[in-house]
Amino acid sequence: MKRSGILFVISAPSGAGKTSLCRRIVDIFPDMRHSVSFTTRPKRDGETDGIDYHFVSQDCFDTMVADGAFAEWARVHGNCYGTALATLQEARDQGRDVLLDIDCQGAAQLKRSCPDGVFIFILPPTFEELERRLRGRNTDTPEVIGRRLANARREMRELVWYDYLVVNDDLSRASEELKGIILAEGCRTGRTRDSVVQQFGIDKQEF
Ligand code: 5GP
Repeated sequence: MKRSGILFVISAPSGAGKTSLCRRIVDIFPDMRHSVSFTTRPKRDGETDGIDYHFVSQDCFDTMVADGAFAEWARVHGNCYGTALATLQEARDQGRDVLLDIDCQGAAQLKRSCPDGVFIFILPPTFEELERRLRGRNTDTPEVIGRRLANARREMRELVWYDYLVVNDDLSRASEELKGIILAEGCRTGRTRDSVVQQFGIDKQEF
């Protein structure tokens, strides 16, 4: 049954395992488009421009903001991050689902502009586990880790307005839960209404 593409927005405190989960989801759903954000954050070892992020200067980012090029953007942990309107537009034109891995401020902006999007919050099993994962990554300075932990406490309060909550205590189980959410959302009657009306000749008023 044909339906329009769905916007899936995933937020989590850093260290909750969101990046690994998103990778799994894109493997499971090869048609799902994983949005590549723009950021002013310096590139980490192992990251590739255009794949992990579009790494841009502050001037370039500010120009994009002034040009209205972002569907949402926010300052996170001292750097700017944003989703280009063009990315969402392209996915919509192709009828493809799109997965956004963004912070709560950006998600709140999209909740207003795309109310039929699906908003999913990922939690670590405990705060202690989150701290252990962040320190074990060895990618950030102690100061940055401290800032990320403080932000995590604040972000966790936002989960009340998300549609779904997934606790990532086990990557395989959490991926299964996410997969279930994505499949179920694709089956919502509202998303296939036009095709059903057309194919089965059901009166639009009845549906
Ligand atoms: P990191 O620097 O660890 O890759 O990401 C830091 C935070 O920025 C994460 O919470 C991530 O979800 C968020 N983030 C990444 N891209 C975007 C974006 O395009 N918009 C917003 N609002 N947040 C983003």
